[in-house]
Amino acid sequence: MVGGGEGAYIGNIHRLASRLDGHWQLVAGAFDVDPDRGRAFAIGQGLDPARSYGTCQELIAGESGRADRVDAVAICTPNFTHYPIAKALIEAGFDVICEKPLTATLADAVALERLARESGRFVGVTYTYCGYPMVHEARVRIARGEIGAVRTVQVEYPLEWMAAPIERAGNAQAAWRTDPKKNGRGGSIGDIGTHAYHLAGFVTGLKLDSLTADLATFVNGRALDDNAHVMLRYQGGARGLLWSSQVAIGNSNGVRLRVFGETGSLQWFQEQPNELIFTPLDGRVQTLKRGADEMSVDAKARTRTPPGHPEGYLEAFANLYAGFAEAIRARRENRVPGPIGQNLPLAHDGLKGVAFVEAVVDSAEAADQPWITPVAV
Ligand code: NAD
Repeated sequence: MVGGGEGAYIGNIHRLASRLDGHWQLVAGAFDVDPDRGRAFAIGQGLDPARSYGTCQELIAGESGRADRVDAVAICTPNFTHYPIAKALIEAGFDVICEKPLTATLADAVALERLARESGRFVGVTYTYCGYPMVHEARVRIARGEIGAVRTVQVEYPLEWMAAPIERAGNAQAAWRTDPKKNGRGGSIGDIGTHAYHLAGFVTGLKLDSLTADLATFVNGRALDDNAHVMLRYQGGARGLLWSSQVAIGNSNGVRLRVFGETGSLQWFQEQPNELIFTPLDGRVQTLKRGADEMSVDAKARTRTPPGHPEGYLEAFANLYAGFAEAIRARRENRVPGPIGQNLPLAHDGLKGVAFVEAVVDSAEAADQPWITPVAV
């Protein structure tokens, strides 16, 4: 692992989730921007001091020479460091699991996606919400035609944690997220709008045609948007509405997806992740339960406990890690991956996310808020 040291937000989620199924073992890391703190943190995690590195460069040098070198490196650092770290790792022959957004700039995302493709290295991107079994269930049902052709998609990711200027009150996570050089051009839209955009496209299979956006910065002095409204036109005529907000008081990770088709609708809410609400035209509202016999192979492959015993965020994250392990093993064994190793978020999905943010900010900054087609859809 690179990043995710003492006090970091997402690193520990990666550590917990990657261990859940026993496919991964944490054996080496450069966990902190401060090399000494990083080494001390690694040793505190029980790692071999010889594999407790101060920097990513040290990790590459140390691991490259080992017969038991790491299989993959998870990148859990602020956005602007993803590209140089991922590039160095890929060029040294390592597979990579990278946090979203893939990079802080579009140019970096284009270059990284190309490098991933040409090198043949595995590059997974942790779009967490596509790890949930009932998100896969929704995807399968839409692909089967159970709600007919999709007409409209409503997706939202509201958060409240930045409703006050916490970046000026010592909050480390908010500090880099409000610095355009470290975060990238999109504030809420880059941080959480990218999750929502990926989720909508993943579940519906729709490709974007164009978008128009309205960004707002409600907290005085903040350099980036903290609220985004984006209208989406998908290829084939479907429409979408995406809302991301860091100032939505009362909401903590309240991701919600609603998809309306010609003959039915599906709704999924991350705070009730074990359920999917299905309503056929002229039929009853049905609550589909994770773990039930009637669920798809894709959902079952990502299910551990029987219905009624809750699964949640860590299990969804673990499904991505299990999928990445299966995809890497299948590539080595020259076989088709099992269901959990399919439909994974990869470098191209990461590029699409960054291109989406770029188009959103371009649209919002233009005087007439034009409809814009992202460079990758
Ligand atoms: P954070 O500020 O809490 O932690 C960043 C960590 O990286 C710190 O430990 C820091 O010391 C370390 N670091 C910084 N530069 C480094 C370098 N060059 N080498 C080694 N370590 C370095 O950040 P966070 O909130 O955990 O976010 C990290 C990434 O994860 C971001 O890209 C963010 O968008 C993403 N994220 C994703 C999700 C998700 O749902 N998938 C959730 C939260 C954050």
